[in-house]
Parts: sequence; C-alpha cells; structure tokens
Amino acid sequence: MSHGASLYIRKQEIEKMIREKKDLLMEAGAELSVFNSHADMGLELYEREKNQEIIELLEIELSRVNEALQKVAEGKYGVCDSCGGSIEEERLQRQINPSLCHKCQQAQNNILH
Ligand SMILES: [Zn+2]
Repeated sequence: MSHGASLYIRKQEIEKMIREKKDLLMEAGAELSVFNSHADMGLELYEREKNQEIIELLEIELSRVNEALQKVAEGKYGVCDSCGGSIEEERLQRQINPSLCHKCQQAQNNILH
C-alpha cells in the first residue's frame, strides 16, 4: 500500500474516533441536565474532561496526518527536511510525519544534548 493510501485510512480512522467521542460528550451533556445528584455530576464532569483531552490529542494527530498528506500531494513525503535525502521506511512506519532522516535526527539530537 502506498503511503498516501495508508495515511488516508489513518485520517478516516481518527476522524471517526473524534466523531464518536464528540457524540459521547453530547450525550453526557444531555444526561447532566437530567440527573442532579452531586456524586453523579462529579463523575460525569471527570469523564467529560477525560474525553475532551482525548479529542484534543486526536485532533493534534489528525493535523499531523493532514500535513503528511499535504506532503504526499506535493511529492515531498519521506524527504528529509535537512539533507533532502529519503527518510528510512522504518521511520515512516513508526512516525506519522517524520521530517528528518535517521542521520539528521541523530545530528540534531547531538546538538540538543
Ligand atoms: Zn537527512
């Protein structure tokens, strides 16, 4: 499967998860107004916050997938930002949108440490 195709599938999966989480939040919101027990409210609010955090993380991931898809469209996906060489297949499998090849990443880590 091409990178573009697998990224597109990933994008659809993430969008589906975000929709499901948002539906859950809507339902929880509707229930909040029905039940007024304080104990239930606390738990519901905790669940809501947890779901909201998950949605935020999913949205960050979605934007990274979108950036990757943009790169695929421009023919720049898998090209190292630093040396212009191709990024190792293994790195592309492990990360959504790596911008550096292994060698350049190592060099950057060495500068940072
Ligand atoms: Zn490089």
